[in-house]
Amino acid sequence: MNDHDTEKMSGLLVSSGFSSVDSVEDADVVLLNTCSIREKAVHKVFSELGRLREIKANRANRSMFIGVTGCLAQHEKEKIFKRAPCVDLVMGTAAIQQLPKLVADAVSGVGRVIDTNFYPDNHLFPSVIIQRRPTAKALVTIIEGCNHACTYCVVPTTRGAERHRPVADVLAEVRSLVEQGFCEVELLGQNVNSYQGGCTFAELLFRVTEIEGLEWIRFTTSHPMDFTQDLARAIVTIPKIAPFLHLPIQSGSDKILRRMGRKYTSQEYLERIGYLGEQRDKMCLSTDFIVGFPGETDEDFEATMSVLERVRFDASFSFIYSPRPSTSALRLPDDLPENVKHERLTRLQARQAELTFQSHRREVGNILPVRIESHGPTELGHWLARTAQWRNVHLENNENRQLPFGRLVDARITGAGPHWLRAEVV
Ligand code: SF4
Repeated sequence: MNDHDTEKMSGLLVSSGFSSVDSVEDADVVLLNTCSIREKAVHKVFSELGRLREIKANRANRSMFIGVTGCLAQHEKEKIFKRAPCVDLVMGTAAIQQLPKLVADAVSGVGRVIDTNFYPDNHLFPSVIIQRRPTAKALVTIIEGCNHACTYCVVPTTRGAERHRPVADVLAEVRSLVEQGFCEVELLGQNVNSYQGGCTFAELLFRVTEIEGLEWIRFTTSHPMDFTQDLARAIVTIPKIAPFLHLPIQSGSDKILRRMGRKYTSQEYLERIGYLGEQRDKMCLSTDFIVGFPGETDEDFEATMSVLERVRFDASFSFIYSPRPSTSALRLPDDLPENVKHERLTRLQARQAELTFQSHRREVGNILPVRIESHGPTELGHWLARTAQWRNVHLENNENRQLPFGRLVDARITGAGPHWLRAEVV
């Protein structure tokens, strides 16, 4: 979502006459588009602002304007100016369309500018302005905000309640992307499953799939409680839907899930995975885990490890619980020693690494379509590509065939590593 917001901001600035430069040292305006989902991300922002302050202070005869945008800006508002006086502009998550005016104001010398208003139609962003990064897959917003209230999560505060983009808008943007040459799109939202922009998410997938020229459709992210049988049916029956599902579970303990406000039990989560039926084995399934949530006992953590074993996720993203401001989990007593949290995370990640490696090894010998993601061979002599399951592929092109960026080629998987597959063009 943040990557795509950056594409929108850069498109707006380019259409207002700005151009991008290769290094911060050459820039007149520097924007940090921020995340505040974990404390570490926030630390990174302030450390980067310290670096920018030095560059700004050492400018002899040219000004430099620094802006902070995104979730941290939305949450901290004016406090950012206090903590980082080098900042000239603060813009929240739902004010992106105001960016050219805000930058113009900051540059004109009116002093510091800030806009953290929630413009309800931010999701109606004009797609022609988006300056997409040179990737093989195009990102398309379908919903912004979240109506859930997970007790650890700052997103409902920083992104607001759900705003659904009308289905006609989504379809028009995807059609235009196909005309521009994209063959793959990823539909984006904090919780795409709760889409109600004129139809359900499952119906939207059926409608997007009818667009000719589109090869793979992806989506992220999904809340298990909104993962319906209809949606599972759409995923397993529409060939264009890439066989990759990211369904965050967070914990395997019902007690911890309750404390997290996740609204499902581990059994209900497993039932939803069961909706995929036999197709599950052909899919890549990934999840998120939060380890060391307040009150997590050894038994609770073992329940998480047990779900990991039962589902045998192909990949997962796992982190130690990070207390976030304005979240109700802050009120929960958190007396688990740091070393215990780290030990649990290390154990979970080590087991996940084994499962991921096994899942990669099962692909060896298969011939799969892969999408070319590099414009030429890397220094190591192979091309970068991705399978439909979102696995990294190092592709050998021994006969020097033409491999057009963004296109599908058939590849025989010849080897597997913990983070990649090796393959050769067939
Ligand atoms: S569903 Fe996701 S975005 Fe919404 S509150 Fe929960 S963790 Fe945050």
